[in-house]
Amino acid sequence: MTPSSDVRERTVDARTELNRRIHVEVMGVVWDEARCRVCGWMLAGHVMDGCVADNCAQRPAPLLRADRSPDYAGSISAAWLVVEKMRAEGFEFGTDSIGPGWRAWFWHRPSNKYYRVEATDAPQAICLAALKLRAALAVLSPKPTETDTNG
Ligand SMILES: [Zn+2]
Repeated sequence: MTPSSDVRERTVDARTELNRRIHVEVMGVVWDEARCRVCGWMLAGHVMDGCVADNCAQRPAPLLRADRSPDYAGSISAAWLVVEKMRAEGFEFGTDSIGPGWRAWFWHRPSNKYYRVEATDAPQAICLAALKLRAALAVLSPKPTETDTNG
């Protein structure tokens, strides 16, 4: 493995992890465990009847897994889904080009929390700003645990 391919793999891994976190923590997507993660069909009770948890029945396997996250951090059209989701929830958003890179910010007016991130490309700046603001707000108002909701 050459140093450049190693760097490229780490970059892809970091972007995949960022995409996964955006999918769950910002977009609020929760995978339905009753569905096959590979093809998205409902799981069957037995491998002879269809997909089971660790064995997709589709041959050939789908080119893209059903549980994949969109490439929010690598595509401006996917990153814009993040902007639309945040704006629909009342967050204010802005972006600027700065030198060779981009700046993106989100502001949560009720808490006056504001996060601005600069990155080499706009999708990455949007994703990082959204994720930082979500994390900050989660600290301010943690989701109730089962004990909290029952007691
Ligand atoms: Zn399947």
